[in-house]
Amino acid sequence: MLVVMQSHASREQIQKICERIESLGFRSHSVEGTERYAIAVTGDLHDVESCGLEDMPGVQQIIRISKPFKLVSRESKPDDTIVRFPNSDVTIGGSEFTVIAGPCSVESREQTLTIAEKVAQAGARMFRGGAYKPRTSPYAFQGMGVEGLKILAEVRERFGMLIVTEAVDIEALEAIEDYADMIQIGARNMQNYSLLKRAGRSPLPVLLKRGLSATLEELLMSAEYIMSEGNRNVVLCERGIRAYVDHSRNTLDLSVIPAVQKLSHLPILSDPSHGTGKRDRVTPLALASAAVGANGLIVEVHHDPDHALSDGPQSMLPDQFAVMMSQLKGILPVVRRTLPEPLPKARAAVTVVQP
Ligand code: PEP
Ligand code: MN
Repeated sequence: MLVVMQSHASREQIQKICERIESLGFRSHSVEGTERYAIAVTGDLHDVESCGLEDMPGVQQIIRISKPFKLVSRESKPDDTIVRFPNSDVTIGGSEFTVIAGPCSVESREQTLTIAEKVAQAGARMFRGGAYKPRTSPYAFQGMGVEGLKILAEVRERFGMLIVTEAVDIEALEAIEDYADMIQIGARNMQNYSLLKRAGRSPLPVLLKRGLSATLEELLMSAEYIMSEGNRNVVLCERGIRAYVDHSRNTLDLSVIPAVQKLSHLPILSDPSHGTGKRDRVTPLALASAAVGANGLIVEVHHDPDHALSDGPQSMLPDQFAVMMSQLKGILPVVRRTLPEPLPKARAAVTVVQP
């Protein structure tokens, strides 16, 4: 339910309404838009109807949100969400197309800094790399843990790229909060509700990847878990779903991008690396993602993919990444998006990686 305030409503009136909502055992969330200020009410709402909110001073209108996802819904917030980061002009959502690139896993300092330098120079604004890896086999490389996070923090320091990395559980999430700029919740954890709730209490924005066979509504309900705990900065990601084909690791469901944008104000990225599983498919699907209106990309890049500890076959070579970035500049004006220039620190970056 949404309590839309009159344009001249005072702070005190807003405060009183929030207090009333909380005293009834519900949660209140402010929803600030360009056209209106509203308070979303969440909880088990079956008897909120009769508690007289519509008669309180300053209230213009009560709107019932028809969808099961409330805070995520465009009904509650018509304006697109733009996720911003402290002390940085990197954004996700809005007119800028944000490219996140880096290896599947942080394998060593040298590997990570080598790749970081290449992708920063080609224009990546954010850097990815798993320090905690969800692997099908318990015997496969599980990630470097906190040592990996320290390497990622060095990448930010040197090249100015913001860091996004996956939290496989609450312990990893709490370590990530000390080092990174954004928490990734991977496909396998899209419905790990306790992890989602903890991410919802984090000060960091969250990148939520679609589950391996999740419907659009399940994806949006998982985002609702995060937002219901107070975190507004959620970015969705289409990363391919299981289908009955053998030419591709997953099937990148590009139609979900405009479908999400119709139902939700949250930004959505595309991951053509996991979405295809094959290096030579990444650029075509990246360009297609831009064309259907994705807010950006997350792609895997490795300078020596034959020796990568995870996802080598789908990792682009740095030169392929640079070509993809220049081709994106041709597509993006058609959908009224821009590709920001490489970060100043990346342009100035030293080329030699010192031990
Ligand atoms: C990853 O980004 O490396 C990853 C494991 O992604 P997903 O959760 O989409 O499989
Ligand atoms: Mn991967």
